[in-house]
Order: sequence, then structure tokens, then C-alpha cells
Amino acid sequence: MKEAVVIGSGAGGAMCAKELQGRFQVTILEAGREFRPLKASLPLLGQLRKTRLLFDTGEIGWIFAAMKIRKAGSGMILVSGSGSGGTTTISTGNAIRLDRDLRELGIDLDEEFAELYDEIPIFAGHQEKWRPLTRQFFAICREMKLEPRTMPKMGDYAHCRNCGRCVLGCPHGIKWDSRQLLQQAQQNGARLLASHRALRIVHEKGRAHGVLARHGLKKKWFPADLVILAAGGLGTPLVLQDSGITCDAKLFVDPVLCVAAEMKDSFQNREMPMPFAVQKQGYIISPYFDHLSFFFNRDWLHPAGNIYSLMIKLADDNQGSIGRRRVEKTLSASDRKNLETAAAVCAEMFQRAGVDKSRLFFGTVNAGHPGGMLPLTAAQARSFHDPRLPENLFVADASLFPASLGNPPILTIMALAKRIARICRRGPG
Ligand SMILES: Cc1cc2nc3c(=O)[nH]c(=O)nc-3n(C[C@H](O)[C@H](O)[C@H](O)COP(=O)(O)OP(=O)(O)OC[C@H]3O[C@@H](n4cnc5c(N)ncnc54)[C@H](O)[C@@H]3O)c2cc1C
Ligand code: SF4
Repeated sequence: MKEAVVIGSGAGGAMCAKELQGRFQVTILEAGREFRPLKASLPLLGQLRKTRLLFDTGEIGWIFAAMKIRKAGSGMILVSGSGSGGTTTISTGNAIRLDRDLRELGIDLDEEFAELYDEIPIFAGHQEKWRPLTRQFFAICREMKLEPRTMPKMGDYAHCRNCGRCVLGCPHGIKWDSRQLLQQAQQNGARLLASHRALRIVHEKGRAHGVLARHGLKKKWFPADLVILAAGGLGTPLVLQDSGITCDAKLFVDPVLCVAAEMKDSFQNREMPMPFAVQKQGYIISPYFDHLSFFFNRDWLHPAGNIYSLMIKLADDNQGSIGRRRVEKTLSASDRKNLETAAAVCAEMFQRAGVDKSRLFFGTVNAGHPGGMLPLTAAQARSFHDPRLPENLFVADASLFPASLGNPPILTIMALAKRIARICRRGPG
């Protein structure tokens, strides 16, 4: 059987591995370790916060290896998952179909989405689990004619225990993540190699021959008839650059800023994050307890159970780049304008909930939906293949999005990955 090497085991990589195994003998190279949810007690970590031993977001890796933090030159924190399941393991489980930009390029993913809705349990009937303040904010959004919508969640959310730990890995096996796809691929004979970082793809005369990877101190060679690169919006451009292929400086990241207030006994820290969202042009607003800001931002002084926070997530301009040493990503003038508008909406929501503007505080700007550096064009609507790539190398992650979604991308990435796997099963390789 022909050999396929898949780089990365997140949304895109795991889906491709599952879909390709059988037609190819698949090996998945994953830079991180096998995923484990954070075990530590959050109240105990809250105590550590008081000792001021926690002072930099980069330290999160000491206690939770699956969460990787990078800082852009501007100071923006970039969060991603590292380990089996990629960033899906630290996601909040949101499932939204967002392929309008792709459709405008002439890409119809109806079939792929239909399959996804069959394969992945998606649940939006979780309202009865919401805490009183979340219900109040939902009502306020309605009053303000913001048309809030309950967020569909991937997994067995009917049994969600509302522990609020989704971004630290669900300890109760409720939330779906791409390890389920990896398991299916492995059951069919795929090999998953954790702690194997792809260094570069070796190619010559328009064909990839295989992948050079590092495992501990050793370098290992993986010959391949087909290579799928799905190392995420930050990882994929790096592997391409190290393989002599330049990407576009069109990085988007969906920056997040939380607007918060002290609201006694709100216990949002013990509630499913992002239970609903308001969709506006250029941003969304959704209730979200920001663990990163709680642990590392000095403005988040109050006990966790007394903080209520609204997340603003921007659809940022696609301007930015990543290199081995530095990520260049700043908010553009229009990003800042959207942020100001959204912050004013949040302030009004808090005002209606009885909190004066003067009592609000902000989180640390962070971002976790990178992509855009190898965007699909209308000319690639059938092939899904950028001419810069060797003929048997495909990218299958958010790098392909022509613009930021400003919204949860997992479902759409998996639809793309399904299509790419279909193309590969049929043709090249
Ligand atoms: C806190 C947080 C919450 C989120 N919540 C949601 C949500 O609710 N819904 C949603 O749709 N999206 C959510 N997202 C975003 C979503 O998780 C990611 O956009 C998505 O997982 C990206 O999929 P991917 O396959 O492109 O990459 P990833 O899932 O990031 O997987 C890439 C994998 O490649 C590995 N890798 C990187 N470089 C190499 C290399 N050189 N060699 C081998 N392996 C490599 C990485 O370790 C990683 O495991 C969230 C993101 C964050 C940070
Ligand atoms: S709130 Fe807790 S139980 Fe529910 S999905 Fe998230 S981590 Fe799992």
C-alpha cells in the first residue's frame, strides 16, 4: 500500500488520517505528547496566583504541557494545543459551519458538512444548565436586539457537568475532540507517533519524497507517496518555510479580549464556556471565563467565583507573519475600531446587569484561531492545491482560509480536510 504521512493530529490532520487510512498506510507525526487533561486543582492554582509565582503566560506549559503559548512582537498571546488532538483538546467544543468565503471561491462543501453532522454528536439543548447570570445576560442581549444564539457543542453535552474546564481538557470525557478520529484511524491500522516533530518536507522536481522529523535527539526519515501538512495555522507555515516554500504574510488569529466585572457568586468559572454568542459584523460576543487572564493578569484580583466575563472575538485583518524567532501580528486600525465598538456593547450589557462602566476590567489580548498563510483561491477551488507545493503535498488546516472567520473554525477545517482526503484518495499520490 502507498504511504501517506500526516503532519499534525488536530482537526485537519486527524480527519485526513481517518479518511485516508485504508487507501494509504498512514503515519501521523505529532510534535506534542499524548494529551492529558490538566489534573491540578484550580482552587489550589488560585492560591499559587496570590503568591505571585505565576507571572508570565509562558509558565502555563509547566503545569499543562498541552497548552502552548507564543508571544507576537506586539505582546499578543497566541494559544495553541500541542499533543494528540492538537488544539481541539483545549477547545470549548463550539461547532459552527462557516464556509461563506469558501463558497464565494466556488467551493461547495455541502456533502462534507452533511457527513460531519452524521459523524459528530452536536448538541444545542444545554440551556437548562446555564447559571442565573448567564440567563440574565442572554435576556439582556435579546432586550438589546443582539439576537443571541445558543452555541451548538460537539460531544455529549446533555451530560455536561458544567465544571468549566473545557479549555484545560474535559476531565469527564464529555467534549468531543479529534482524538476520536485518531482512534478510528488507528483501529484501521494508522500509526500515531507522538513527540515526533516534522522538521521539513524533502522534495525535488515538484514531488515530495518524505518528511524529516525529530524524535528526542534523533532525526528520523519517513518516506511518503503523499504528505498532508496540518500542523495548524502557526505550525504549517513554519514547516513550509523550512522546506523552502514561502507562504503569504496574511496571518489572522481571531484576537480575543475579555471585558469583566466583579459579580458575586456568579461561578462562571464553573460553567460551560461560550454557552451562547452574539454575531456582529467583525466580531462576536460570548460569556467566557478567561483562565489565562485570571492566572496571569494583575487586574483580575477577585476570586474566580466572583468574576463574570464577556469575550470579544474579532475577525481580524489578515496581516501578519510567523518566523522561527518571531511572530509579527498587531491589531490593525479597523481591528481596533471593531474592538472599541464591541467593548462599548459589552459595557452596555454590564450596565443593564447593574454594573457601572467604572467597575469593568479587561483581560489580556490573546488569540487561538490562527490561519490564512496559504489561502485558497478561486483557481484552486477544484484542486485544493497551491502551485507552490509539490504535487503530492497538500495543506489541510486553517492556513487555507482566505480570511479570518472570527468564529470557531474546527467544523469548517474538518470539512476542508474531508474534501482534501477525497481528492487524494481519487488522484495524486
Ligand atoms: C482555548 C481555545 C479554545 C478554542 N475553542 C474552539 C471551539 O470551541 N470551536 C472551534 O471550532 N475552535 C476552537 N478553537 C480553535 C480550534 O481549536 C483550532 O482552530 C483548530 O483545532 C485548528 O485545527 P488544526 O488542525 O488546523 O490545528 P491544531 O488543532 O492546532 O493541530 C495542529 C497540531 O500539529 C502539531 N504540530 C505543529 N507543528 C508540528 C510539526 N512541525 N510536526 C508535527 N506536529 C506539529 C501541533 O502540536 C498540533 O497538535 C479554540 C482554540 C483555543 C486556543
Ligand atoms: S464544562 Fe466540564 S464537563 Fe462540560 S464539556 Fe466542559 S470540561 Fe467537560
